[in-house]
Amino acid sequence: MQSRHVAIPDEIESATAEQVLAWALETFQPRIAIGTGFAAEGVVLIDMLARRTDRVRVFTLDTGRLMPETYDVIEAIRQRYGLEIEVFFPQTETVEAMTRERGVNLFLRSVEDRKRCCAIRKVEPLGRALVGLDAWIAGLRREQAETRAEVRKVEIDEAHGGIAKVSPLADWSWQDVWSYIRAHGVPYNALHDLGYPSIGCAPCTRAVKPGEDPRAGRWWWEEERAAKECGLHPGRRRTPAPSAVSPS
Ligand code: SF4
Repeated sequence: MQSRHVAIPDEIESATAEQVLAWALETFQPRIAIGTGFAAEGVVLIDMLARRTDRVRVFTLDTGRLMPETYDVIEAIRQRYGLEIEVFFPQTETVEAMTRERGVNLFLRSVEDRKRCCAIRKVEPLGRALVGLDAWIAGLRREQAETRAEVRKVEIDEAHGGIAKVSPLADWSWQDVWSYIRAHGVPYNALHDLGYPSIGCAPCTRAVKPGEDPRAGRWWWEEERAAKECGLHPGRRRTPAPSAVSPS
């Protein structure tokens, strides 16, 4: 994987989401893309990007187990913004081998099997989606989960060759996200109106009750909260001091 290390401005952490996106586009275009599952944060970022550039690259991962409503919003966004959305699928032979050996619902057996399914259906395709990029944009927010509490607006994605990972909404609240969606009439996943703050694969996502943790509906049968990540965003990543990276 190619990478392009750049100096990250100290002030980026106090910049607004629009300022972070502007810096990222100026620094990395055209070797930058947004990776999204089309939840509320993702559609906000697509709208912000579309206001700045008509060359926005958007990719998503189709695990083969998504909710019907997720396909609906992917299509609504494609039409609204005139985007060519790049859809990455898992490798057929690998999925066939996994389901033959462990069953189609292996994720219910153990955390290990669930992570195996996520690795094959999500993490491997993400690696292919990022090939050739110097940066990617994600919709992470610190208040989404304990594992995301230290997300920075720009950090180095060590799991993907040291490219930059940009999270412009890191300090946004859930209310901020919905204020933006409503103010700009952005299409969104209908499941959000049915109690789904976090939306993943159909068999692994349920609605949450008022006051429940936003990610309580993901793999709800698992007890350990810290395990509730699929491997796309593996916990806190270290941001090197600006002096530790090479200016472009
Ligand atoms: Fe498999 Fe569930 Fe992970 Fe989707 S969320 S990849 S179905 S374990």
